Amino acid sequence: MSQVRVRFAPSPTGGLHIGGVRTVLFNYLFARQQGGTFVLRIEDTDQSRFVPGAEQYIFNCLRWCGLMPDESVEHPGAVGPYRQSERKALYRPYAEQLIAAGKAYYAFDTPEELAQMREQFKTAENPSPQYGAVTRMHMRNSLTMDEAAVAEALNGPHVVRILMPQDERIQFKDMIRGEVSFDTGLVDDKVLLKADGMPTYHLAVVVDDYLMQISHVFRGEEWLPSAPIHLLLWRYLGWEEKMPQWAHLPLLLGPDGAKLSKRHGSKYGFPIFAMNWTDPRTGDFTEGFAERGFLPQALLNLLALLGWNDGSGQELFSMEELVQRFDISRVSHSGAVFDFEKARWFNHQHIHRLSAAELAPLVMPYLPAASNEKLLPVLELVKERCTLLPDFGVQAGFFFQTPESIDLDSLRAKWKPVYAAFFETLASAWDPAPAWENAADIETAFTVLAQELGIKKGELMLPLRIMLVGGKFGPGVFDILHLIGASEAAKRVRNALSQI
Ligand code: GLU
Repeated sequence: MSQVRVRFAPSPTGGLHIGGVRTVLFNYLFARQQGGTFVLRIEDTDQSRFVPGAEQYIFNCLRWCGLMPDESVEHPGAVGPYRQSERKALYRPYAEQLIAAGKAYYAFDTPEELAQMREQFKTAENPSPQYGAVTRMHMRNSLTMDEAAVAEALNGPHVVRILMPQDERIQFKDMIRGEVSFDTGLVDDKVLLKADGMPTYHLAVVVDDYLMQISHVFRGEEWLPSAPIHLLLWRYLGWEEKMPQWAHLPLLLGPDGAKLSKRHGSKYGFPIFAMNWTDPRTGDFTEGFAERGFLPQALLNLLALLGWNDGSGQELFSMEELVQRFDISRVSHSGAVFDFEKARWFNHQHIHRLSAAELAPLVMPYLPAASNEKLLPVLELVKERCTLLPDFGVQAGFFFQTPESIDLDSLRAKWKPVYAAFFETLASAWDPAPAWENAADIETAFTVLAQELGIKKGELMLPLRIMLVGGKFGPGVFDILHLIGASEAAKRVRNALSQI
């Protein structure tokens, strides 16, 4: 059996959309499962779209996700370079091979001539005619010019175009969609080599998938219309036997059923990229899942299920389970709707699965005042209340720091004059601090005092909580008391009494 080699081939043109992360994930899962190799190739041949920093950003995202490639610019294998711009010289001979075989041709048309052609050939049914079977013989190219004129014109700017057959049906078997067929007449004579000598995506992707010995291609559905061009290139270059198996992954859709985009992110207020991204050209900022407080394992779990399931109804998967169970033939071909509430649910579940020790380094940024000895028990106590990592700042912050303000309105709403004596006595009982063994001891002493003053214990719980925490949230009051300690608790109670 030949070696499994897959690739993710991003163009460094902007942030990494979660649809791209899902493409990486499916490549990665397949490679790990098959004992194969995962290659990262940077497709930067369109220099007009080059964005500084975008390549490094992609690496940062993959590192955060834990989906690092086996071969890449950072870790080259035997088939580099892994950046297409550095492979520039390699593509022209293949373009020339296609010309020699009569499958491609040189074209010399200026932008004005192309515009004129579109004007001349447009009809009501076809308002933007293509450069192809109908028009190509009216243009300035090596099909219409004599040899001497071509040789002369080659000294100036020129491109190489593929010669699309007029009426052929071509087909291939997609791993997800089964048999897919195309009418070549609907595809134009795409440019393969540009005037700046760089290949276009179409030529580069075929040459590189071949030279990098890629065995399987998992990419987004948006590339399906390019498949006939690629298929013909594999054929015309004589490599059809080596053609990878293709799988075109279903689109991710927003809540309104349209392709998931940045627009959805701003409209519904959820992140769209793996990590924060600021476009250096426009200053436009797009939020990332990492900075919103998602765990990478939660993001990957939810992305795996956008288009795939193992048929068992199981929703929570660890990375190891995904590697074992993932099956490309079970990926659906219809679009998968992204649901942010569900994404939050996955994160909550994955937070719950982590131990306090695993959580500690992840939540430290949100807990600047945390002390070492209390951190783990506090995290254990509050983790089930946290959906996103910043929630730990709210749910655990008050254990380490006196709340800056308390919800006096809620406290006053529940207040009765007799409580003042109760809480004053309580504060004196806690300062100097008694030895508290556990939360149950504290509760017993509290209950006894309430009985002595003839107040129902239940009435006192919410006022006490607000005094300690600042608001109406948090885990059990006696657990909180046990962890913050008697003298700090006395301080908070007195502080609240002075304000009420
Ligand atoms: N460079 C293309 C992109 O930006 C890659 C498409 C493919 O995987 O063939 O997504």
